[in-house]
Amino acid sequence: MEFSEYDIDSLLSITTRPPLVFTEGQGMWMTDHKGKRYLDYLQGWAVNCLGHSPQCVQDALALQAKKLINPSPAFYNEPSIRLASMLVKHSVFDRVFFANSGAEANEGAIKLARKWGKKNKNEAGLDRFEIITFDHSFHGRTLATMSASGKPGWDTIFAPQVPGFPKADLNDISSVEKLLTDRTVAVMLEPVQGEGGVIPATPEFMRALRELTTKNNLLLIVDEVQTGMGRTGRLFGYELFGVVPDIMTLGKGIGGGVPLAAMLCREAVAVFEPGDQGGTYNGNPLMTAVGAAVLEQLVAPGFLPSVEEKGNYLAAQLNMLTERFGLAGERGYGLLRALKLGRDIGPKIVDSAREMEPVGLLLNSPRPDLLRFMPALNVTTGEIDQMISMLSDVLTRLR
Ligand SMILES: *Cc1c(COP(=O)(O)O)cnc(C)c1O
Repeated sequence: MEFSEYDIDSLLSITTRPPLVFTEGQGMWMTDHKGKRYLDYLQGWAVNCLGHSPQCVQDALALQAKKLINPSPAFYNEPSIRLASMLVKHSVFDRVFFANSGAEANEGAIKLARKWGKKNKNEAGLDRFEIITFDHSFHGRTLATMSASGKPGWDTIFAPQVPGFPKADLNDISSVEKLLTDRTVAVMLEPVQGEGGVIPATPEFMRALRELTTKNNLLLIVDEVQTGMGRTGRLFGYELFGVVPDIMTLGKGIGGGVPLAAMLCREAVAVFEPGDQGGTYNGNPLMTAVGAAVLEQLVAPGFLPSVEEKGNYLAAQLNMLTERFGLAGERGYGLLRALKLGRDIGPKIVDSAREMEPVGLLLNSPRPDLLRFMPALNVTTGEIDQMISMLSDVLTRLR
């Protein structure tokens, strides 16, 4: 592809990308190197919770960059304390560890659970370390989080796996019970499986899991890298089910587009000792200042109810498409929603939508028979209507 004097093949190839280079983004819109505009329902992969380049992120970055960028993780800094305090205030957790990606936050959760399992041994006096996870789950791309993930094929690509992650079936409590051993220390899941195709855990299942884990002295870990930070219409997904987990991880939306993630835990589980966990960039003031600015917007009066409203509106429009085109229905919470297509036309829709003229539409198909929608949480109903109208055009052509 012609783009500039620079060579695209200087980048290590890790995936196939369309022959476009994006140069600007504002709100729900992105612009490519030729000046074509796209309505963006990917938003950096559910990352830009306030859209592209929101004013509060620009301001926080500029202000903090002038003040202090990195004093080193060996010292306290003000933005990280401020953001941690805000997260504690708005959640059921007592302590926060900051990381730079969702995978790293999950690594932290896994390490914390294993450490806790050393301090809370089984009846035979042995360490507990097994963490039950779920088929089709996604927890990240490090070796441990790939091993924890239930993505088909991931058990063999970089074999051998990190041991200790038996897989149960989502929404089947007996499949979890069957995997319990005297080495089990925790159960870890996404309240709504995101990459797996927006598959929600049922409230009954979440409550049964909490009961089972409490009864067996196990930790309940929720991976809210995708469901957290207002995505489901609640600040955190666990609120949908009325359960109190022991550990939660956050990523994606927490930074509003910049690399920031977090692991939160309850006091009784906060067992790390000096040297157990850390990282050069963890909790740096530049990123945590952004996180604080983003969280302030999310908890402003009326914001979360508006996410739920917009989610319901999007769901109604997707149901309308379902009727009109004979599709298989929608599912999800808030502004994390999927449209079931009933046949494997997802990738074709994604390409056709992107190639529309004069403006394109960016969509995601995590599975060939499904589209996932992850707009900015401040998307307008007008921007939902426009997406639905463009998608209708594509579906009409593919009919
Ligand atoms: C995206 C995602 C991750 C991984 O986050 P990275 O920042 O890409 O490491 C982990 N868990 C869930 C549920 C995710 O959606």
